Amino acid sequence: MHFMVRYGVVIDLAMVGNVFNTRVSEASVYLGFTFFFDVAFFGVLPAWLIAMQKIIFPRFLFRLLIAPFSTFVFLVWAFVTSSTWPWIGEHSKQLGGLILPWNYVGNTWMHVSNSIDVKPVELLPDGDFGKSSIPNLLTILVIGESARSANFRQYGYERDTQPYTIEKGFVPLPSPRSCTTYTSGSLECILSHMGNKRSSFINYEPLQNYLSRMGVHVTWRTNNWGEPKSIVDLYQTRSEIVSECESYNCGDIYEDMGLLHGLEVLLEKNGARRDFVVLHQTGSHGSNYFEKYPDSFEVFSPVCRSIQLDLCSRQSLLNSYDNTIAYTDYFLFKLSELVESKPNRPTLILYVSDHGESLGESGLYLHGTPNVMAPDVQRNIPFLVWTNEAFQSAKRIKSKWLRPEAEVNQNLVFHSVVGAFDLQTPVYNPELDLFEDVESAE
Ligand SMILES: [Zn+2]
Repeated sequence: MHFMVRYGVVIDLAMVGNVFNTRVSEASVYLGFTFFFDVAFFGVLPAWLIAMQKIIFPRFLFRLLIAPFSTFVFLVWAFVTSSTWPWIGEHSKQLGGLILPWNYVGNTWMHVSNSIDVKPVELLPDGDFGKSSIPNLLTILVIGESARSANFRQYGYERDTQPYTIEKGFVPLPSPRSCTTYTSGSLECILSHMGNKRSSFINYEPLQNYLSRMGVHVTWRTNNWGEPKSIVDLYQTRSEIVSECESYNCGDIYEDMGLLHGLEVLLEKNGARRDFVVLHQTGSHGSNYFEKYPDSFEVFSPVCRSIQLDLCSRQSLLNSYDNTIAYTDYFLFKLSELVESKPNRPTLILYVSDHGESLGESGLYLHGTPNVMAPDVQRNIPFLVWTNEAFQSAKRIKSKWLRPEAEVNQNLVFHSVVGAFDLQTPVYNPELDLFEDVESAE
């Protein structure tokens, strides 16, 4: 309380980490008069006053009745305020840093459990590249954020939110579903060979680490968080990527566009070898949709400029959200343009969102509703595939994945990427591979 009130400090996980990592000399400068005054006046004194009170224990029968009654009141209250759950989930980190005593008790517990590596990584079995493996294949996985298929033109939305990807020939897979409604759960699922059947007790090596260990050059660029720990050839945050732009104007680097900055040069430097690039977007992450795209991308207006979404009109909220989708559309277009400069290099781009989003339907906003009660808009996601001619002459999408009844979900990513590289390993499941060799298909 002393540090929160006097210094405006938020006791979040990072702050608890700082407390554990501080030195006596550093911490002792805060132990002045106000510290001891606050401890005495707001800590010791109220505690003493409470300790002085005589406790009268209620009758056993009363205590027996109060428990089910309070549980009932709590359940009713939770149900009545259920529309605020996603908001609470979304802001849980900030709230957790502000609510006493949860902030220091809960965050200390989390800090300690994070420090102890309770789940060591289970490495996947080694594999070999098959005879038909493409030695210079470039695979790019774009992981979207909070993009729901309902607002994509290719999934039946009446608005043209995808002018670029449609023109570029991105192929939409039918009715894709996400594993979960929150970022870290879906990322774990996308990058695991077990997909949505993964166990929370075994921490299997994620796709990016596995490919890197098998000799594929792996680059992970992020404008987001909630990712499994990456042990790859190059890991860069967006701010690291664009930090060099402070000294000169290096073009369009607004939000996710920063992830593309210098990518061409990077790939050139790696030489034409097996490359796996992951671009983790901030995409359509709310509630500040209006800040996720530059002003020039305000295609639909007027837009909601508040983070209190229920105060905005339905149309202005949709407008701001649709602008984020249109900006992702442009991002994917620029990415495909960037790789088209090397037409001879077989290239595959997969774009899959982590989960969908609620925009006020049934009083729900954002995402994070538990799967059992999550509305379709939080789980129906876009999954787009782009390939160049050089890739198409070696591999193509199996027709079964383009049929309306196909069960497309995030489980396909791991096996399609491993299959594209033709990495032969016991953990590869051909049933979940989007692609087949052109020769074997004929
Ligand atoms: Zn997310």
